[in-house]
Order: sequence, then structure tokens, then C-alpha cells
Amino acid sequence: MADVHRLPTPVSENWDWQRLGACRGANSAVFFHPDSERGSARLAREATAKRICNSCPVRAECLRHAIKVQEPYGIWGGMGENERRAVISATRRRLKSHAS
Ligand code: SF4
Repeated sequence: MADVHRLPTPVSENWDWQRLGACRGANSAVFFHPDSERGSARLAREATAKRICNSCPVRAECLRHAIKVQEPYGIWGGMGENERRAVISATRRRLKSHAS
């Protein structure tokens, strides 16, 4: 779970996009890996989740949320954990270089 201090305020405008997600009603196990999952099993599960995300009308909102609150686990907005970490790190480096 994300650090709750980064979560948006609990008003509907901040969360309504979730009602439109293509994953609504889907098995959440497709989006979140079990502890022991590795290798080809993980790749196959993530590919299934990303296919769902690719058809999602709120993909951009979902990804923006996941990056903003730094969701540590799962597929959000078509990106996995490592992909989101890379985006966050690149953004920090860019901001740091602009600040100096
Ligand atoms: S982008 Fe993926 S994880 Fe996000 S709401 Fe859509 S289907 Fe669900």
C-alpha cells in the first residue's frame, strides 16, 4: 500500500476515475503478485494485467495516481512496480538538475 500521507483527500473528484477502470470487478490477483511468484509466471500475469490496462478509459488517471502516491505494488496504469520506480527516479533527477 502507498504511504497514506501521499493519498489524495477522500473527495469523489479524486477517486471517481476508479469507477471507470477496466479492471473493475476483475480478479485483483491479476494485478498484484503473490510473494513467491517469479520469472515466466510473473511475466505472464503482468502481460495479462497490462492488456486490460491498454483498453482502460482511465489509464492516464490511474498511472498519474500511482506515480503521485508512489504505489509500491502491482500494475497500475499499464506499468509495473519497476517501471514506475524508474519514472519516479527520472523525474527526481530532472527536478534536481533544474534546481541546481
Ligand atoms: S489502468 Fe489498469 S489498473 Fe488502472 S484502472 Fe485501468 S485497468 Fe485498472
